[in-house]
Amino acid sequence: MKICTKCQAVFNGKKWNGSHELSEEKVATLKRTLCTACKRIRDNIVFGTVHLEGKALSARPDEIMRMIRREEEIERSHNYCSRILDIKRDGRKMTIRTVNSSLAIHIAKQFKKTFKGRLDIYKDTPGHRPRNKDSEGTVSVKWSQGT
Ligand SMILES: [Zn+2]
Repeated sequence: MKICTKCQAVFNGKKWNGSHELSEEKVATLKRTLCTACKRIRDNIVFGTVHLEGKALSARPDEIMRMIRREEEIERSHNYCSRILDIKRDGRKMTIRTVNSSLAIHIAKQFKKTFKGRLDIYKDTPGHRPRNKDSEGTVSVKWSQGT
């Protein structure tokens, strides 16, 4: 078994898990490494991009940030790999890059649910097909509020 030195996820030989019930003594014996998600963050590997545009972004920036971080937390409890790499804001536009594809979709859907508007999901941009059924493809999601 292995443990991630950054986020404390544990690898049980098959998959990484965000939470574990191991004793401190047991944890001390685990091999120390970086998990897939932390490696992706370190190497800037992006699987999801969310483009947001709308007046809500400039009108209620604090609320928007809380909403995005809450969505990350919820998704992370289902899949430890759901992490935001970075967020760029420019007035009424925002770009969020995520290290797994499903988080990007969930964030954009949350905006659609809260503010209505238009949602477009583009999966697997040409040239970026998944290599096998286990590897996820990239996704780019656009949400705009309209006027
Ligand atoms: Zn980690």
